[in-house]
Amino acid sequence: MIKNVALIFPNKFKGGISSLAMQILHHHLNSYNDVNCDMYFMENYKDIKNKDAIIITLQYENDYFNVINIINNLKPRNPNAIFIGGGPCAMANPMPLNNYFDAFVVGEIEGTNIMYDLINKEPVENGVYYPKLNDFDTVKRIYPKLFDIQDYPLCQFTHPSGAYGEAFLLELGRGCPRRCKFCMAKNIYRPPRFKKIEDLKYIAEEGLKHTPVNKIALISPSVGDYKYIVDLCHHIKDIKENISISPSSLRADTITEELLKILDLKTLTIAPEAGSESLRKFIKKDISEDDIFNALNIAKDNRIDKVKLYYMVGLPNETEEDIEEIIKLSQIVKKDFRKVEVSVNPFIPKPKTEFENEPFDLNSKNTIKYIEKSLKKSNIKVSYENFNSMIVQCVLCRGDSDLGEIIEQYNKPVQFLKYLKKEEFLNNYLERIE
Ligand code: SF4
Repeated sequence: MIKNVALIFPNKFKGGISSLAMQILHHHLNSYNDVNCDMYFMENYKDIKNKDAIIITLQYENDYFNVINIINNLKPRNPNAIFIGGGPCAMANPMPLNNYFDAFVVGEIEGTNIMYDLINKEPVENGVYYPKLNDFDTVKRIYPKLFDIQDYPLCQFTHPSGAYGEAFLLELGRGCPRRCKFCMAKNIYRPPRFKKIEDLKYIAEEGLKHTPVNKIALISPSVGDYKYIVDLCHHIKDIKENISISPSSLRADTITEELLKILDLKTLTIAPEAGSESLRKFIKKDISEDDIFNALNIAKDNRIDKVKLYYMVGLPNETEEDIEEIIKLSQIVKKDFRKVEVSVNPFIPKPKTEFENEPFDLNSKNTIKYIEKSLKKSNIKVSYENFNSMIVQCVLCRGDSDLGEIIEQYNKPVQFLKYLKKEEFLNNYLERIE
């Protein structure tokens, strides 16, 4: 009998349509003859009824408010469905959602039948956390050692409103060979695995046949770390005239003349994360000032006139000089580029990282304002996320199963935060974990 599955991205369509996780899961599930899987987003999930399984991808902690609403809405209309969570939040710490899901997939599903077995309500031994049956800390994470071409979606859904526009998403691999101490992705997708060059060339060729777009977005935590990146880009350019290639992220120390020439970049984006070289060393970002200026010089030579710099504040061991260095570095860059944008956000101690026990610094808000004020004089725009959302993110990523009910009751991040403050619970989630 056919199993009907709803795959939900718990936020707006424009976020979900550019989610590679959605494309991969949709392709994976529909490759079974007896599974019919449809995608849903916040705009249309209320149409879901009488499904056998409801799968929600958990990409961002701040979506938990939507997730709980969705589940409470859908449970009565889908009485026989199993509710399954997956994605980075499920791998790192799904505790706040314990009471809402039947199972969480802890790992990557390609090359396994885990999702299929769960949909069919078969017991699964590894890679699944059942909140009512086992202990999260004992679950063995699963992942494919090698990627099979068959597991990759060649026919993708695209939309101009997606993060990459109308682009074919080409994932170079998963995991990251670098060692940044604050980074969750590096640890939950360990070990780093890049795909074979011949497989990527094949996927790009076939992908563009099945997904007729004029852009390829290269997806990887660090695109420039792929050994054959230049070769791959040349191959893509040969497949289709006027195809543009854009990377999801590039480290400054991987930028070369050759690479920048072949990528279609209008803006050079660099994430020094910390202003000073000593703090960058301490957090193991491993990017020197020379790397940054080398990348900027190459960009300038290639007529790129816009630079975006990403920083975090409130990092462990940060001093006032480190903040001054952010300002100084940004001002130096502005001398050579028409437009410089600086994005500054507070450091969040994420689970499954070397900094997971570090505190969240509430003073980061003032630091961000100080940087904004200082850079305004140099005509540098500073952008940042809503500070309360960052606090909520920190609480949820470190949270325990008691939080679920509070999220449900207070329903909106602002009310949720007010409650935690009033009850004096907030600091429990922000302080150093001893
Ligand atoms: S380079 Fe990026 S993805 Fe890799 S460890 Fe550092 S922050 Fe994480």
